[in-house]
Amino acid sequence: MTTEIIKTDSDFNEGINKAAAVIRRGGLVIFPTETVYGLGADATSAAAAQAIYAAKGRPSDNPLIIHVAKPEDAEPYAETNEHYYRLAKHFMPGPLTVILPRKDTIPPQTSGGLDTVAVRCPSHPVAHALIAAAGVPIAAPSANISGRPSPTNASDVIADMNGRVDIIIDGGDCEIGLESTIVKLEGSRGILLRPGAITVDALRCVLDEVKIAPAVIGKLADNEKPLSPGMKYRHYAPEAPLVLLDGHPDDVLRFMQNTPKDAVLLCYDEEVPALDGHILLPVGEREDEEAQAHRLFTNLRQADRENAKIIYAHLPSTNGIGLALYNRMLRAAAHTVQYIKSED
Ligand code: AMP
Ligand code: MG
Repeated sequence: MTTEIIKTDSDFNEGINKAAAVIRRGGLVIFPTETVYGLGADATSAAAAQAIYAAKGRPSDNPLIIHVAKPEDAEPYAETNEHYYRLAKHFMPGPLTVILPRKDTIPPQTSGGLDTVAVRCPSHPVAHALIAAAGVPIAAPSANISGRPSPTNASDVIADMNGRVDIIIDGGDCEIGLESTIVKLEGSRGILLRPGAITVDALRCVLDEVKIAPAVIGKLADNEKPLSPGMKYRHYAPEAPLVLLDGHPDDVLRFMQNTPKDAVLLCYDEEVPALDGHILLPVGEREDEEAQAHRLFTNLRQADRENAKIIYAHLPSTNGIGLALYNRMLRAAAHTVQYIKSED
């Protein structure tokens, strides 16, 4: 199929209307959101959901998030409640997905066969305009080939998806760079299934109790059934093995200085001079987890373009958005963490 690439800086309304018509007739449109790019289709159509799975090479038991223009637009599709609206008041539109019981207007194919559905209301103006113009909820996973890092800019989208979808809307860089926080509501309690820019502390200000699902920071046991099907799949992974280095930052820096010159190093900005002569992809300053989140997926894709044999990175902190970074990096590294001891 030929993919049309639409720029949003030309004629905004014309582009949005064209893309919305493609969604209504069951086609596939990639669009920017504040988290990562999404690969969208009509969430009420089983055939459109199946087309998403096919375009991504995604296993069809891994459910899709449905995107609505306003929190109350979820009503025909999910059993909402006061706790959903409390979350919506604080965090929507924005990078939060809420899991609720599914209504029959959403076919099981969209929801990976589950009786729940994931609802999100994005704040990005292009995403918002597209959903509003389509007049149907848009099911959209990240717009990458399954298993690869999520795309956060149009050229990374084109690298994976050109020829696989009808339209790609180029909206520049995504602001956050990591996927939405996912919380499952059980009564007034929340279970964090995927960390993101809406932090656990922020959720705890709104819900009575928020538990973190063990698979967010740990490894699923071989026979464990995950709360969120996406937890069991290899994810976000570059081609080369990624090794996360834990230990005092000075010791990790010394280890990086002694790595072979063909290793790719994801170092802090302030370490660049000390690592001169190595292949470096600076991740942001050590204390700046937001910058590190913003650059993670582009850096992992760049490491592939550098033909990395091995990639070394600092193990991030789990503070604030750091937990989201930690969760994505652990999975990208298939849980490979090396502890660097002090040389004293
Ligand atoms: P992505 O679409 O790539 O952002 O991934 C969506 C994530 O949301 C996956 O990890 C899914 O497993 C998860 N998800 C979507 N719907 C549900 C649901 N109904 N219950 C639990 N997890 C879900
Ligand atoms: Mg994804």
